[in-house]
Amino acid sequence: MIAFDLMCANGHTFEGWFDNLESYGRQDSEHLIICPICENTKIKRILSPVAMKSSSRSGQKNPSFPIDYQKLAMEVVNYIQNEFEDTGTQFTKEALKIHYGAAEARNIRGTATREEEKILEDEGVPFIKFPEPDKKNDEN
Ligand SMILES: [Zn+2]
Repeated sequence: MIAFDLMCANGHTFEGWFDNLESYGRQDSEHLIICPICENTKIKRILSPVAMKSSSRSGQKNPSFPIDYQKLAMEVVNYIQNEFEDTGTQFTKEALKIHYGAAEARNIRGTATREEEKILEDEGVPFIKFPEPDKKNDEN
C-alpha cells in the first residue's frame, strides 16, 4: 500500500491509499479518485512527506554520513600548514609575544619542548598540539 496526498480542483486536500503506483495511475486516468469533500474528480497528486519517504527508501542506502577521519585529519594538518605561519623552534617565544601584544596577532605553528609547553600553560597562552606527519625522520 502507498499513500498519496491528493488535491482536487477546488483545493481540498486528502489522503488516498492505493495498492501500488500503477493502481493510482489507473484510477487517476479513469477519474475514479473522487474528492471526499466535494466529489470532484479532477484530482492531482501533491508532493507529500509520505511520497518522499517511499522514494528515498528505494534510493541508495546511505542514511548517515560516513566520516573519513583520516582524510579529515589530513585536511586539518594541511590547513594548519597553509594558514599558520611556521615559527619553528621560535614558536613559544612568538606565542608569548603575540599573547602580550608585542607581536602582530596571527596564527602560528611550530615546535615546543615540554618545558616550553609548561611556560605557555602557565602564561595562559592557548595552543593546540597536533601530530606532524612529515617530521617522522628528524625526531628530537
Ligand atoms: Zn474537493
